Amino acid sequence: MISADMEGATGVTWAADVAPGTEQWQRFRRMFTGDVNACVSGLFAGGAVDVLVNEAHDSQRNLLLEDLDVRARMLTGRHKPLSMMQGIDGDVDGVVFLGYHAGAGCDGVLAHTYLANSITGVWLDGTPASEGRLNAALAAEYGVPVISVTGDDRACADAAEYAPDSHRVAVKECVSRYAAICTPPERTAAWISGAARAATALAGRGEPAVGPHRIEVEFDATHLAQAAAVVPTVEQVAIRRVGFDAVNMTEAMKAFKVVTAIASGAVEGIYG
Ligand SMILES: [Zn+2]
Repeated sequence: MISADMEGATGVTWAADVAPGTEQWQRFRRMFTGDVNACVSGLFAGGAVDVLVNEAHDSQRNLLLEDLDVRARMLTGRHKPLSMMQGIDGDVDGVVFLGYHAGAGCDGVLAHTYLANSITGVWLDGTPASEGRLNAALAAEYGVPVISVTGDDRACADAAEYAPDSHRVAVKECVSRYAAICTPPERTAAWISGAARAATALAGRGEPAVGPHRIEVEFDATHLAQAAAVVPTVEQVAIRRVGFDAVNMTEAMKAFKVVTAIASGAVEGIYG
């Protein structure tokens, strides 16, 4: 399975590059699709028999199905119970995080965690958590290893901590949140497919991780924490911070999704 996000795709450095409807987005969705195709071809070269692509960015309608490697299948569109990881509960032996990015409050191209702004940090069981770390914990609950991660160099450094065995590809070098030294897609495709091919050696489901998890979320404004604390099980633990416990990672991510939905709905135009 490939969980495909867009901020960490080849060439992307700017909000408009990943904002549906813009001219730049039309351009970068082709490069995003190219990254995915490179990964698909590497996985098949390594022995994969089926590849499901879960497109996981924004409206989740970015990849061009008509240009997708014919051997892959694509899950597109929103309202998926497991969000970026929908499909992980199926017959999956390994997952690639493609186009991933650093977490909220960290250095990295278009760094954020779920909400593009408003969230300044997320912690999973006390550790600062990017989308990659959260999704890796969710994959672990289904016994699925994270075999490869692509994104900027900061996303790769993050992945080295939560998935140390993964094959990582830095398609760009972060200079600031909106700037990077980029490499043309022809070269990054070779890197991505080479890593995917090697990563198939890591595929194979292990013992599912079990146990409860705690997530804490910090916002940039007090009223967002107050709004999120209305959700059952969620408590305000500091003036801009909420936390909640869940029996497992699947439930934790469902609650997290509600917290982000409520908080983003509470954002006011000018003051945030
Ligand atoms: Zn993302």
